Amino acid sequence: MVQRVYVTYNDVHKLCLEASHKILTDFKPELIIAIGGGGYIPARILRSFLKQPNGKNISIQAIGLSLYENLGAGEPGSPEEQPGKEVVRLQWLDFSSESTKHLIGKNILIVDEVDDTRTTLQYAVQELMKDVEEQAKKLGRSEKTNFSIFVLHNKDKPKKGELPEEMMTAGRYLAAQTTGDEWICYPWEARDIDEHDKLAAESHSVKEQV
Ligand code: 5GP
Repeated sequence: MVQRVYVTYNDVHKLCLEASHKILTDFKPELIIAIGGGGYIPARILRSFLKQPNGKNISIQAIGLSLYENLGAGEPGSPEEQPGKEVVRLQWLDFSSESTKHLIGKNILIVDEVDDTRTTLQYAVQELMKDVEEQAKKLGRSEKTNFSIFVLHNKDKPKKGELPEEMMTAGRYLAAQTTGDEWICYPWEARDIDEHDKLAAESHSVKEQV
């Protein structure tokens, strides 16, 4: 039985605001990499909170990864998805753009909405580290590149994927909220946003058993 939890746009906004203080002081990101599609909206909201007075906006680059296949398509009320077996790379960085020309030596914040099995995050970090290694070799540079991670929700469950130990011990992984193993319904997935907000308002905890 999977429980559903409804999260509103306001919830997302506030989670990003709360997290932004730690992100600014501890991670000091110079580039955001949003994992699509769930990381796009949190990344954009976060960018506003990370902007320093008289400072520039931090660039957001997108990568598109897919692990889940929607089984409930066309069936309103069945938003849960079934995990696929492997990560499919739908979109990757554009290395001709100014912000990603050189990843080397940068503080890079990876943003996604939820850390479920951690498979997607593991893939993203591994592949980005490979890119950095290749760039460093090509350019003969050796500055340290720091990846950090921000997710809105981390599900407290055994993970299939692993993140570099150094990232975890250095506190460069931040989840705004830790949840149980439940299904989180995000507002951008809702067809009827008023109904979604109503369900969220009734209770921010369990609404349905499915
Ligand atoms: P992973 O299992 O690799 O950590 O998560 C892969 C992807 O599955 C997430 O980026 C997200 O798109 C989707 N996903 C996992 N759990 C949930 C959830 O509770 N709600 C929603 N909406 N998507 C989820």
